[in-house]
Amino acid sequence: PNSKLPDVKTTIFTEMSLLAQQENAVNLSQGFPDYQPDENLIKYLGDFAKQGYNQYAPLAGVKELREAISKKFNLQYRVDYHPDSEINITAGATQGIFTIISAFVGKDDEVIIFEPAYDCYEPAIILNGGIVKNVKMLYPDYEINWNEVKNLVSEKTKMMIINNPNNPSGKILKQKDIDELISIVKNTDIIILSDEVYESITFDEKPHLTLAKYPELKERTFVVGSFGKLLHITGWKIGYVCAPLDLMTEFRKVHQFNVFCVNTPAQFAISKYLQNMDDFQTISTFFQTKRDYLKNALKETPFQLLDCEGTYFLSANFGAISDKQDKDFCYWMTKEYKVATIPFSAFYKDKTDEKVIRFCFAKEQETLDKAIEKLLKIK
Ligand code: PMP
Ligand code: GLN
Repeated sequence: PNSKLPDVKTTIFTEMSLLAQQENAVNLSQGFPDYQPDENLIKYLGDFAKQGYNQYAPLAGVKELREAISKKFNLQYRVDYHPDSEINITAGATQGIFTIISAFVGKDDEVIIFEPAYDCYEPAIILNGGIVKNVKMLYPDYEINWNEVKNLVSEKTKMMIINNPNNPSGKILKQKDIDELISIVKNTDIIILSDEVYESITFDEKPHLTLAKYPELKERTFVVGSFGKLLHITGWKIGYVCAPLDLMTEFRKVHQFNVFCVNTPAQFAISKYLQNMDDFQTISTFFQTKRDYLKNALKETPFQLLDCEGTYFLSANFGAISDKQDKDFCYWMTKEYKVATIPFSAFYKDKTDEKVIRFCFAKEQETLDKAIEKLLKIK
């Protein structure tokens, strides 16, 4: 058949997880925890299903969950989103992102994305007839060159997609980045999609700067979140989007036809769980311990580590070990050393290869130890 996505193949996450399985390797590739979430959360899920919460939820999502999200924004960032008109629950961040792009991007509309870019943005833009304009962030700093962004912006620019904290680089935006962004979008109609799924995972006391905190940005921004990351439940596929009423109204027109609503008992379980959660800092501490453990171990290897300011990914340059292409290196390391990772070239349209790979550290201590034992053998 005539393909709408001729260049798209199975995602790198699926590919590397599969290879890890085949090779019986420790899987530090695809980003997901290998430990159980809090048992209370699991209990609530069963409880709500037993109590009869098994039919369609409202289009916007379960009210209790929208209220919990509203409260969370207030507590964490002193930001107000109205639970009825400005928050919508989605089937993971992925569906939220797809729906936002579908609702606003049309034929020949340009969308600026920053590479390394998470894989689901570009196909959604292309399916809707849009044009991807990419700005590269490069090794070793992965800073945004805002002059380049300024030069790309035109009448045709419909949207900008920001991912902060960034998967895979682990970088977070600083105030100076936000200031640049504000000055670029001022006096334009550009919509911002701010993928903040790792908002609760930042390290070394560095704050997450949600775009929602800046009125000049909030009025034009969709903030996207995911409970997969916050509560260690990537398989539940519950996320959310927040935006002002006029943007949300358009979002809902599309949402009601591509999914209508999402998993009811899971939404109730999460909302009940959030009611007892008033400290969102502990999750950063939890992951910082894991980051530091892996980081200290990798210091004994020839890998050159990137600075990891947020997310649950630590990345490293392997140039001192091999001059293979990064993806070949990942295959080689999975087969020969039995540790699977993700190559950075997968996050660039032109497969830019700077010999950098990504390790996921959302893993049990034992898993990290197993991986470290193997990685220490690499010369
Ligand atoms: N955005 C980024 C940057 C991600 O890393 C992920 C998945 N890990 C998603 C979106 C998708 O989130 P979800 O699993 O909630 O669909
Ligand atoms: N977001 C996860 C990662 O970055 C992957 C999710 C997926 O497999 N689509 O590893």
